[in-house]
Amino acid sequence: MSAPASPSSAESAALSAQCPACSLHALVPVHLRSDRPHHWRQTPQPVAGGMTLDTCPVCFGVWLDAGEIDALGDAEIDPAFLKTLVGQSANRMCPRGHGFMMEHLLPGLLRTPIDRCPRCKGLWLDGYERHALARSSTREGQEDQAVQLARRGLIWAAQLLTHLPIEVENPARGTPWAVYGLCALLVGMYILSVEGVLFAREWAMVAGQVVREPIHAYTLFTHAFFHADWFHLLGNLYFLYVFGDNVEHLFGRRRFLLLFVGGALVGGVLQLLLSRATAAPVIGASGAIAGVTAAYLWIFPRARLLQTIPFIYIQVKIPAWVYLGVWIGFQAVMAFFSDAIQFAWFSHLGGFLHGLVLTPWVLRWRRKQVAAQVRFKSAAAIFGRLPKPRPRPAAPH
Ligand SMILES: [Zn+2]
Ligand SMILES: [Zn+2]
Repeated sequence: MSAPASPSSAESAALSAQCPACSLHALVPVHLRSDRPHHWRQTPQPVAGGMTLDTCPVCFGVWLDAGEIDALGDAEIDPAFLKTLVGQSANRMCPRGHGFMMEHLLPGLLRTPIDRCPRCKGLWLDGYERHALARSSTREGQEDQAVQLARRGLIWAAQLLTHLPIEVENPARGTPWAVYGLCALLVGMYILSVEGVLFAREWAMVAGQVVREPIHAYTLFTHAFFHADWFHLLGNLYFLYVFGDNVEHLFGRRRFLLLFVGGALVGGVLQLLLSRATAAPVIGASGAIAGVTAAYLWIFPRARLLQTIPFIYIQVKIPAWVYLGVWIGFQAVMAFFSDAIQFAWFSHLGGFLHGLVLTPWVLRWRRKQVAAQVRFKSAAAIFGRLPKPRPRPAAPH
């Protein structure tokens, strides 16, 4: 951020650095003016009394120069609080060219890390972090411990039962309509097949059958829309939602659908070519969703997932690249060495490969698109909505 009031200061010069978080785009200036407290509106040009932020149009991170978090007029953030944070070396560079920043863990129970440059004291906040900072730096936020503890306990209990990871640091920005649409379609198809309106067996892919009668090639596509049981369906819907919302935001709706459908097709073809289980019918959206997870891995390798480790029952945050890397590695090993033919290992591998190939192309397009037209609807698009201050309880004395 650079304050127009002091243009002579070197630290307030406009930035022309690459985003330190996602490295997908150079930081762009966004000019804001304040109508009333807590409310900032974007203006086409810098205005007197306003401010200019350097933001990433891809991941919505924001760079704040020293002291300017106060200038933001954000009464809820206690500047003294920042000084109390102890940091460790981060692997992100200060956009002002001071080398590596320090990572500070916010004191909430989920311990959100934020990045701060030890030399210029500038702050880098990821899209979601400003919210967490506002929360943990206020007395109101810190008093929420009991509620937070209960929530964390609930997640822990749910994870013991389901072993599903929870994405706590990468919320969707915007409504993922393609994800919702696909989820509704998958549920609809499942209900139709349970009710006997459609027979899943007719739409399932059987490798041997497609080879003998190429007319069944349509099943390379249709198998992805049917599921064997509720458990299978709910698992797939969960992963589609967790990873799909962020991916759709960057891909856009049409490209996201291309990712999904292409993943189903490539997965089907790879299963057809490589699987020894030529008589086993294959159904399920897992191959298509593997493509979505590959895109997520490519774009957000550092996003962390909260997971309870089986058998030792400890909750840890695992980076997406570790979680998805282990998952796809397991798929690859099983595909080539396992006799468990009831799982379509090659379809997962195929969908994943499709995602890995498609994502760099989409990112290149996205970069061009962003360079051509940067638009933020409002400062809220960058900051998210801050929690409303709750009335403080009366002092006991
Ligand atoms: Zn970025
Ligand atoms: Zn710096």
